[in-house]
Amino acid sequence: MNIQAQNTPVDHKIANVVKTQRAYFRTKATLPVDFRLKQLIKLRDLLKAHEQDMFDAIYEDFGKSKHQTQLTELFPLYEELGLAIKHLKTWAKPRKVPTNLLNQPAKSYIVAEPLGTTLVIGAWNFPYNLSLVPLVGSMMAGNTTVLKPSELPARTSQIMAKIINENFDAGYLHVVEGAIPETTALLNQRWDKIFFTGSPQVGRIVNQAAAPHLTNVTLELGGKNPAIFAKDAPINVGVKRMIWAKFLNSGQLCLTPDYVLAHSSIKDQVMERMVHEIEKNDFSVERGNFTRIINERNFDRVAGLIDPDKVYYGGDSNRVERVVRPTILHNVSLEDPIMQEEIFGPIIAVMTFDTLDEAFDIVHQLEKPLAGYLFSHDTETKRRFLSEIPFGSGAINEAVMQTTNANLPFGGVGTSGMGRYHGEFSFECFSHMKPVLEKTFDFEPNLKYYGHSDRQMKLIQKLV
Ligand code: NAD
Repeated sequence: MNIQAQNTPVDHKIANVVKTQRAYFRTKATLPVDFRLKQLIKLRDLLKAHEQDMFDAIYEDFGKSKHQTQLTELFPLYEELGLAIKHLKTWAKPRKVPTNLLNQPAKSYIVAEPLGTTLVIGAWNFPYNLSLVPLVGSMMAGNTTVLKPSELPARTSQIMAKIINENFDAGYLHVVEGAIPETTALLNQRWDKIFFTGSPQVGRIVNQAAAPHLTNVTLELGGKNPAIFAKDAPINVGVKRMIWAKFLNSGQLCLTPDYVLAHSSIKDQVMERMVHEIEKNDFSVERGNFTRIINERNFDRVAGLIDPDKVYYGGDSNRVERVVRPTILHNVSLEDPIMQEEIFGPIIAVMTFDTLDEAFDIVHQLEKPLAGYLFSHDTETKRRFLSEIPFGSGAINEAVMQTTNANLPFGGVGTSGMGRYHGEFSFECFSHMKPVLEKTFDFEPNLKYYGHSDRQMKLIQKLV
């Protein structure tokens, strides 16, 4: 069953790409770990050779500076590639696990099996990182991959297509550029895995397209991430870290703090410090430390969330430049438009609470977020935050930085996503971890066969 008829030229073109990739996978070329390592090294070298083109492309797309691009796109990507190249041989080995008594004598292990032909769909806000880090996972695991980067930053999409399509066999890796028609045509195909980064709305479309084939899906989505400042919060350092995380990429970041819940006794200090940090950072498009809003549609959406009656700081915007100045809204309630959707822009909404129960209740009234942040020294507050608030990943006395530790998996929960990746988790995300029991012929206890006595049953019970 397909979500749309497959009869357009785009559908035919894409069907051929998938056919070529399936045939390539069947050649078994991707199975040896040495092949995968060679391809990962090749990709790393190509990226290094094209860095300047990549900086130029993203600057043209939304004014992101070289340093910001290095920090948030290329360094994490090189780290993933470095980890993959260093550890793949170990990760790809069968993993021994203990065998239970009932099955002895035998050995048990888990074999990582590539899934086959995979589709990676990227989001626009970190176009290199969010397209190529999942691609590294798919390559590590020994799959063939079609990558569909976001069409919104058009030049970054073009440069990724150029790097990959001019240097890799289309049967192994191929970039399909395009918007909804192309993505729809891609989703009409049968895949062995779909890895999608984007909004929960489109995540639902992807999930529906995967359902008829029961395709394995990872969805990296978004939500409204709370930053809770408890009454004992370390205000100066806490706000400094939170403001950096909020205005990185102009708030166009899935992990960004979306709204602040500040204890009423420290709310004024928190807000004053927020202003201090914003002004100290001197966020400037010209000086390359503040990115533009990706397009006019998003500009209108973000600027439209600013309620002039609730502006505590900022509130200015320039449609021609596609810039929304850092803005703090206060006296916000759950009914306000700013709390009805993920902000995904340089605005922070501030609400207050008197008890932790009140703060947690606000979080619970919204969908499960991709990230949760708490600023507090108090052990009991931290314990309650971790056990009572659901979120994809989180940080205590920090924000966003959890994603830079590849030993921690990255992913959402509920409407913020399903599945996880980064580092070894990426390898597992794109593999089937196949459990195997291997018996010897040394000994046959005969216990499991029919015709049990009560004595045998007692023995079996003991063994299990
Ligand atoms: P989006 O859902 O609009 O687009 C993502 C991808 O889906 C793009 O490649 C786009 O071409 C494709 N697409 C868009 N509409 C489609 C449709 N109707 N049918 C089929 N494909 C379609 O998301 P976005 O605007 O690129 O990114 C913003 C959202 O992504 C936010 O919600 C943000 O939180 C989330 N996000 C999540 C992560 C994460 O890792 N969890 C990272 C970045 C962004």
